[in-house]
Amino acid sequence: MKKKIIVGNWKMNPTTLDEAKRIYKSTKASAGKLKNVTVVACPPFIYTSAFLKSKTDSSLAIGVQNAYFEPQGSFTGEISPLMLKDLGVKYAIIGHSERRVRGETDEMIAKKVQLLLETGIKVILCVGEKTRNEDGSHLDFIKDQIKSSLDKVNAKNIGNLLIAYEPVWAIGAKEAMDSASIYEMTLFIKKVLSDLYGHEDAISTPVLYGGSVNFRNASEIFITGKVDGLLVGRESVNPPGFAELLKAVDSI
Ligand code: PEP
Repeated sequence: MKKKIIVGNWKMNPTTLDEAKRIYKSTKASAGKLKNVTVVACPPFIYTSAFLKSKTDSSLAIGVQNAYFEPQGSFTGEISPLMLKDLGVKYAIIGHSERRVRGETDEMIAKKVQLLLETGIKVILCVGEKTRNEDGSHLDFIKDQIKSSLDKVNAKNIGNLLIAYEPVWAIGAKEAMDSASIYEMTLFIKKVLSDLYGHEDAISTPVLYGGSVNFRNASEIFITGKVDGLLVGRESVNPPGFAELLKAVDSI
């Protein structure tokens, strides 16, 4: 059976290295007990090197929440995929709505996805509509986001791609999207990928759901939503809740 994948997006939390170490230690201990789940923690850049002392340690993979689209040079304040690769970073979240809203364009996202995949870092590409209405226009919106983000990608690198469907209105909300609608979106995204890359690659590309996932709703989202994984925000920096969530998903 293919392992499920759970990615924790710590966002800009916590504010001290000591607290970051505490969350990391607890997440790693929980991840180490699982049989059916791959866990990825995506802390802020500044903490990653503290967690990557041993590149061979595989019970908890480390990812980042962004990367730049050039390999090196005069780009003050940016971080290159080559630096991340050298450090042992395995995953990068790209195109999160909290970055898009602050000016990240589809074109920048496409360049980031291309360079990261060429560098050998797995990309968790975030897509999601801001609002929904009855005419179903969100489906075209998601299709366009996927197509333009993958515009520059060589099909041979598609094995390192994951898609995270995160309806923007469900991020940081009280409740997740209902699982039946998540299932519809999982199917729709696989269909878009299938039209782009063929059936085999579409089936093997993991589709994750993100948006107000917690230890109470995670199993239901897997079972009814038929997702391959979850992208978890707030609950990933709440060690007791995240431990419960991982245990619940592992036992499905
Ligand atoms: C996110 O920001 O990717 C996210 C899913 O956040 P939350 O789980 O807090 O809604």
